[in-house]
Amino acid sequence: MKPLYRNVPSSITMSLDKKAKELIASGRDVINLTAGQVDLPMPQSSKDAVIAALREDRTGYIPATGSADVKSAVRSRMGWQDGSILISAGAKPLLSAAIACICGPGDEVLLPAPCYTSYPEMIRLAGAVPVPVEGDPENRFTVSDAALEQAVTSRTKALLFNNPVNPTGTVYRREELRAIVDFCIAHDLWLVADEVYGTFVYDEPFVSLYEFAGVRNRLVLVNSASKAYAMAGLRLGYAAVPDTAADAMAGYLSHTLGCPCSLSERAAIAVLSGDSRFCSDLRDAFRKRRDILFPKIAAIPAIRVEKNAGAFYLWLDIRETGMDDVPFCRALLDCEGVALTPGSAFLCPGFVRLAYTQPTPDLQKAAERLARFVLHSGLRKVRA
Ligand code: PMP
Repeated sequence: MKPLYRNVPSSITMSLDKKAKELIASGRDVINLTAGQVDLPMPQSSKDAVIAALREDRTGYIPATGSADVKSAVRSRMGWQDGSILISAGAKPLLSAAIACICGPGDEVLLPAPCYTSYPEMIRLAGAVPVPVEGDPENRFTVSDAALEQAVTSRTKALLFNNPVNPTGTVYRREELRAIVDFCIAHDLWLVADEVYGTFVYDEPFVSLYEFAGVRNRLVLVNSASKAYAMAGLRLGYAAVPDTAADAMAGYLSHTLGCPCSLSERAAIAVLSGDSRFCSDLRDAFRKRRDILFPKIAAIPAIRVEKNAGAFYLWLDIRETGMDDVPFCRALLDCEGVALTPGSAFLCPGFVRLAYTQPTPDLQKAAERLARFVLHSGLRKVRA
């Protein structure tokens, strides 16, 4: 195989999730907090729409970037008036298409870190170079203007930006987003933005980059039904892109994916044109979990954690335990049957991600087991 493809590691998050599932299948009592997906069912209207679409034999190809009625449902739900709407099989292909269309070989993409596992590989698969820009641990891991200025070069073509952030649960504030926007405009960069957790913001209203009208001519804004409507397996994403990017991205998507799934598209229409209570109920359910879980994790000695403002992740600083993140996660799974994801998967060793995507009693149990594990590993260290 070509070196580009041979060297792409399969996602660490997926392999840990797989290991946890295998242990569960073999009868082990494992609480799997690795998966970045909602554990609750999708809306009934979505299920009904899939069944109806099957009955109506809607099983042929659909337009490469989605049908007109889905695009208009996206426009009105998301408030995206300008530019073009593209529909594809989740957020991932839209992000990949954007990077592939923007970058040539050797071009650089700025990547605030820690970041979602797939971003560096998406950039590499496009032949481009990911340039991680470290977030400030003293400021919710947000990237500062100074750090961005230091990383930008004449080869930089884009900033790949995620908000709310996987894995930290950080939500950027309006003035911080303004700085990101100004930076991209000042350096003539594309801003490729992933807001898939936009409906999971707990304490303040979410500010979308779309609100900054001056950046829309360079903004590829990606979202999806995976998290917001608990439809990850149906693979349905949507993007607002400037007209100047639409044809290239549509060409890329049509020659790779072909088109979105015809049944998922009908499900998307049902949820996007229904009321938005599902999203706020889901957010409230996850806020409740966070508020129960957070104090239990924060009380564990040698673990530092800040309350996340968004997404459904707690980001645990485990450096005081004296263990590296990968062995920490392996040992925790072996000893206590709790699966977490090492920060190395997100370009940030020394931390682990806890996805609170399991029912509350399991989360409580996991917190107890984690506390016991940390206590025992501390004792082991003292004895050694
Ligand atoms: N972006 C981020 C930040 C994610 O965490 C995920 C899934 N975990 C995705 C994109 C993938 O979204 P989709 O299922 O819509 O492709």
